Amino acid sequence: MGKICSVLTTNLVVLLLFSLSVAAQTSALTAASQHAVFPKGQKATAGNFTGTVWVQPLVDNDSVYNLISGSVTFEPGARTNWHIHPTGQILMITEGAGYHQIKGQPRELIRKGEVVKCPPNVPHWHGASSGSSMTHIYMIPNTEKGIVQWMQPVSEEEYNRSK
Ligand code: MN
Repeated sequence: MGKICSVLTTNLVVLLLFSLSVAAQTSALTAASQHAVFPKGQKATAGNFTGTVWVQPLVDNDSVYNLISGSVTFEPGARTNWHIHPTGQILMITEGAGYHQIKGQPRELIRKGEVVKCPPNVPHWHGASSGSSMTHIYMIPNTEKGIVQWMQPVSEEEYNRSK
């Protein structure tokens, strides 16, 4: 009788530990999926990017605010083409690490929590590092003067060159 009780108790303890473990894993998954402030959005169509890029619009352009904003996620190695914003752009990095480069200047490392300004009418690119994805919120002001002029892709050689 004592032996049966002991077996039952052991089974109950194992069952309890298993339940706790499942609960912990579920809560970790929930925390991970809730970690991002904004949704990842839709996969960007190829053409202005190299690699896989996700875009979530946040503020649609209109004649009251004249500002457009969205969250962009670059998978490792992904980046924009070279491009120009007639009125400049502000980037707020919300996850991961990547690069921002203004033509003629060294490639700049950008990381979660940093804010980068890109002056008007300057060719530049931004994207993830090769070992990490990167998410940023972009803001383009004064959109009545234009939003973006796309240029050529950033080559592997340009992407890997630190200067
Ligand atoms: Mn830009």
